[in-house]
Amino acid sequence: MFDFVIVGGGIVGLSTGVQLSNEFPNAKIAVFEKEKELAHHQTGHNSGVIHSGIYYKPGSYKAKFARAGSQSMVSFCKEHDIDHDICGKLIVATEEKEIPLLENLYKRGLENGLAIKKLEREEIPEYEPHVNGLSAIHVPQAGIVNYKQVSEKFADIIRDNGGEIHLGSKVEEIIEKNDSVTIRVGDQYYESKALINCGGLQSDDIAKKSGYITDMRIIPFRGEYYKLKPEKRHLVKNLIYPVPNPDFPFLGVHFTRMIDGEVDAGPNAVLSWKKEGYKKTDINIAELASFLTYSGLWKMARGFIGEGLEEYKRSFSKKRFTESLQRLIPELNENDLIEAPAGVRAQAIRKDGAMVDDFFIVTGKRTVHVCNAPSPAATASIEIGKEIVNRIKEWV
Ligand SMILES: Cc1cc2nc3c(=O)[nH]c(=O)nc-3n(C[C@H](O)[C@H](O)[C@H](O)COP(=O)(O)OP(=O)(O)OC[C@H]3O[C@@H](n4cnc5c(N)ncnc54)[C@H](O)[C@@H]3O)c2cc1C
Repeated sequence: MFDFVIVGGGIVGLSTGVQLSNEFPNAKIAVFEKEKELAHHQTGHNSGVIHSGIYYKPGSYKAKFARAGSQSMVSFCKEHDIDHDICGKLIVATEEKEIPLLENLYKRGLENGLAIKKLEREEIPEYEPHVNGLSAIHVPQAGIVNYKQVSEKFADIIRDNGGEIHLGSKVEEIIEKNDSVTIRVGDQYYESKALINCGGLQSDDIAKKSGYITDMRIIPFRGEYYKLKPEKRHLVKNLIYPVPNPDFPFLGVHFTRMIDGEVDAGPNAVLSWKKEGYKKTDINIAELASFLTYSGLWKMARGFIGEGLEEYKRSFSKKRFTESLQRLIPELNENDLIEAPAGVRAQAIRKDGAMVDDFFIVTGKRTVHVCNAPSPAATASIEIGKEIVNRIKEWV
């Protein structure tokens, strides 16, 4: 009998494993991951940014956990010698109409307790010489790291503390009782005192397997990237973001210097025809049918039609993608960009069409389900793990 079984070897599941093994050093812990390697999905396909917490609604889990999480992530990287760089980022207004939005963002950043700086047009080149903007915010707390490396270190700690990591092990069935949970992996059954669902893109289906029907579904949005050719990397010193649309904060292609020195440009956001669909042509008919018959998606799409079309145009036209990037760096041209691997975001959408903005965790009898953990969940992963431990302390 295990004390804790974690479904999902992404950064949230592995961080939860570390926090549980710290809190309960004698507990028997197992992580079940369906892929042959850890961090294969969202965690291994992201921008690698340590977010500061500037964007999020004060008081929300995202605001609290990003702020505390960026600090705990940096401490963890220092302690374990993981390459990272708190290089700071610029959020740049390139059109007059964005200036009031940038002002609101500045106020929000202050409310979230961040020491940030407003920059006038002439100050921008001191930070990013190739950026053309009307004004900007400099966020010194933002940084970069490779979250796959962080996840692998989390896994080492779990193993060193006596825990087990089962790769290539898909949890197919979950039977929750009042004081224990039984899972089936292939033809093997395992029992545990508690189960934590950190299944990312699959978290809604896993919650459903345990009998929890929530008022939301995970809809996958593919985020496509380009890389800057090596000889053009000098155009970007650190992190350069546009002002986000407050209604769709995850939209807006940006530039990210990665910890390995490459520079990514993107991602856009288009509906993926498969939960784990990394290519435009990837399709899973059963999954697609289930998204298209979900009323929440259509209700959301109604309010998103203009933005959604733009995202699709950018997906099929490199020229359009480049034009969006040129708003930030005018001297960039189409030939400077090389196609790069995409990521797929798990975004929870409610039946009424609203996007679930905050992290959303459902606590059952003996199961906990991380039902919405989009960006900045990698940054916040240590704090999400601590939150889960707090919720289930009494179960063992
Ligand atoms: C394009 C993109 C850019 C992003 N940029 C950033 C960023 O810069 N900074 C940031 O903080 N966040 C960023 N994010 C968000 C961040 O990557 C995610 O929030 C985070 O990785 C979520 O981690 P997770 O462990 O919940 O999910 P995942 O990493 O997706 O892990 C879930 C795991 O569960 C496994 N699984 C599913 N079902 C089963 C099953 N039945 N049995 C066993 N295993 C199962 C999957 O195989 C997977 O490995 C970005 C995300 C994307 C997609």
